[in-house]
Amino acid sequence: MSGTGCPGREDLARFSVGDLEDGDLARVASHIEQCAVCEAVLDVLDGDADPLVAGLRETVGAELADVPLALLTAARSALTRRPGSWPEGGLPRRVGKFELLEELGSGSFGAVFRARDTELDREVAIKILRAGRLAGTEDVERFLREARSSAQLRHPGIVALYEAGQSPDGVCYLAEEFVRGETLADRLSSGPFEARAAARLVAAVAEALDTAHRLGIVHRDIKPSNIILDTDGAPHVTDFGLAKREADDVTMTPEGEVLGTPAYMSPEQARGESHRVDARSDVYSLGVVLYELLTRERPFRGNRRMLILQVLQDEPRPPRQLNDKVPRDLETICLKAMAKVPARRYPTARDLADDLRRYLDRLPIRARPVGRVERVWRWCRRNPVPVGLLSALSIGSAVGFGHLSRLSEQLVRSTAVEGAAEQAEALEEVNDLYSDVIEGLKPGSVQVTHDYATRKGAMPLPATLTIDLGRRISTRSESGMQVRLYSDHPFRFRTNGGPADDFEREALRRLRENPNEPVYRFEDYDGRPSLRYATARRLRDTCLACHNFHPDSTKKDWKVGDVRGVVEIIRPLDRDEARTRAGLRETFVLVGVVAGSLLGLTVLFAVTGGRRVGPDNPV
Ligand code: ADP
Ligand code: MG
Repeated sequence: MSGTGCPGREDLARFSVGDLEDGDLARVASHIEQCAVCEAVLDVLDGDADPLVAGLRETVGAELADVPLALLTAARSALTRRPGSWPEGGLPRRVGKFELLEELGSGSFGAVFRARDTELDREVAIKILRAGRLAGTEDVERFLREARSSAQLRHPGIVALYEAGQSPDGVCYLAEEFVRGETLADRLSSGPFEARAAARLVAAVAEALDTAHRLGIVHRDIKPSNIILDTDGAPHVTDFGLAKREADDVTMTPEGEVLGTPAYMSPEQARGESHRVDARSDVYSLGVVLYELLTRERPFRGNRRMLILQVLQDEPRPPRQLNDKVPRDLETICLKAMAKVPARRYPTARDLADDLRRYLDRLPIRARPVGRVERVWRWCRRNPVPVGLLSALSIGSAVGFGHLSRLSEQLVRSTAVEGAAEQAEALEEVNDLYSDVIEGLKPGSVQVTHDYATRKGAMPLPATLTIDLGRRISTRSESGMQVRLYSDHPFRFRTNGGPADDFEREALRRLRENPNEPVYRFEDYDGRPSLRYATARRLRDTCLACHNFHPDSTKKDWKVGDVRGVVEIIRPLDRDEARTRAGLRETFVLVGVVAGSLLGLTVLFAVTGGRRVGPDNPV
């Protein structure tokens, strides 16, 4: 029946009950691993054992191989002792295909060993349920649930379960992925967590949990010691020990008994309402983990009874009261995850993860509606390049328009000055030409006088001609231009021939100092913004006699070239200014419409952008 070199039936039986010496044990164990026949014999032997074992084998599933029973026997004897205190001879070294390397610790579940699977040449963590806890079927069932749940989970954030089983004498074990690193509980005790690092970590755990939840598996015991951080700091969730299949609606907990760790337990777990426990219970526990990462304190403290009462009745202190460095959004996310009523928590772990990622990406979180202004501000912070370009464009065009309107004002003014200079020159030409004409007349043939209008056949004095020409221009000019002629020594017959105001007095004074430099000023004249442009009117030799000998002259010692008076041209600028302003306004409106629609679109995108439409976010 048995192949060459197979151990005898008695050896197999002794192996089955863990009654072999070290040397034989290793030999038989490694043989059984490779021999299907002996394995079948062992199965028959095991089938004679407790009917519970047979039931368990079925549920664990055919793909889950057994850990050699000898390991269980050895480990079980270890578990009856204090962790770490091994009997004479130390840790059992090679048991079946597993080589036990060190005891990692023990927790609520039992003892954990680091071991080597010599067949697959990989490190594993072997977990052995505390022997003393095997009294009730509930422990076994709980243990089996973990196996059933975890075995189907494959996710980088979840510790993979390789094998699970129970020995004929009832020792339950797990062989799972060994994660080199430290638990989050150890990490927490060694130093504070930066807020963003905490958010990243909890988001990764939430994503892993969401995978389990989608398969109907709730962890039910999320706490820092069940999150192992590998050497890169990435979290791996272990111990789906309390998880149950949601589809399997059997309440595994006997009436009144609460499973799990009270400090991280959801209110529905604390009330013992295991039929109400779902994915949102894990969301709650993960909220507590986030709370602890942010504040380095648990929301509730005290003994088991006190803890349960607080979980049920008390609102946790907002994290920012314990640590004001906690970002407001993270506090909001944390408190939403920890809401007493499941319906007010994140509906899924994925939603929790998404909100944490939104916080990390500086997007508005969904837990709290964010004001429009804040939304725009956050959008600006997230999109510095387009916002920078847009601001540069806006500031650039504002500066550009300021510059442009200054330029156009300058243009209006310089055009006015040029025009006035040309007009003054033309007036002088007319005056000079007319003086020459008068000069060329036969003496005494024509009377040349200031009141030529009242005397028949008389002609005006050159100055009188200029004055009257100026008057005519002033009354006929559409633009309201005026020409004035004045002097500080007017002829007696000119009753108002002197300077009329401040500008005219100054113009006279300055032109007398420097006759070649016209004097001008921009100021209101007759209530209109105007250019006042003054040029010197110098005495020609042809005029000298008249001025020095005329009875009405008030100064009799004129010399050729003296500044006799001033010709002033006054050009109102309001019409020109209005015209260029209108042109500018058109350009401004055009650019404004383009930039405005660009800005509007940007803001619109910022306000509505990234907001998914759904029940939480109606349009
Ligand atoms: P607890 O009740 O604190 O969760 P466990 O029995 O689950 O205790 O685990 C005890 C210790 O064994 C853990 O704190 C951890 O250091 C270690 N451990 C558990 N599982 C693994 C694993 N898969 N890989 C590496 N170490 C592990
Ligand atoms: Mg654990």
